[in-house]
Amino acid sequence: MSDSDDKIRKQAEKLLKDGLKTEVFPRAYTQEQIQDVLTRIRQSDGSLEQRLIIGGFTLYPIEDEDIEQACETCMYYLVHRRYCELPELDVPVEAEWSCRLWRI
Ligand code: SF4
Repeated sequence: MSDSDDKIRKQAEKLLKDGLKTEVFPRAYTQEQIQDVLTRIRQSDGSLEQRLIIGGFTLYPIEDEDIEQACETCMYYLVHRRYCELPELDVPVEAEWSCRLWRI
C-alpha cells in the first residue's frame, strides 16, 4: 500500500462524508450507459471530485436490481491494493464503497 494511495483514499472519503453530491443513479448497465459515463469522465477536468461525482460513488454498497454492488465484488477492484483499476476512475477505494460502473 502506498502513502499516496492512502492520501487520495482519505481525500475521497472526506469529500463523500462532507456531502459531495454524486450521480448514484441511474446505474450504468448497457454499453451505451457505460460509454456515456466514461466519456463524460474523460471530458471532465479529471479531478478526483469529478471522477467521484460522475462515477456516482458512495461510501457503502448500493443495492439495485436485487444485487448488492460493492467494490469488493467488482471486476475492477484490486484486493491487495484496495484500488479501482478502471482507467477512467483509477482511484484508491475501500471494499465497501460502490460506484455506478460496478461490474461483476
Ligand atoms: S468500477 Fe468497481 S471497483 Fe471501481 S469504484 Fe466502481 S465499483 Fe468500485
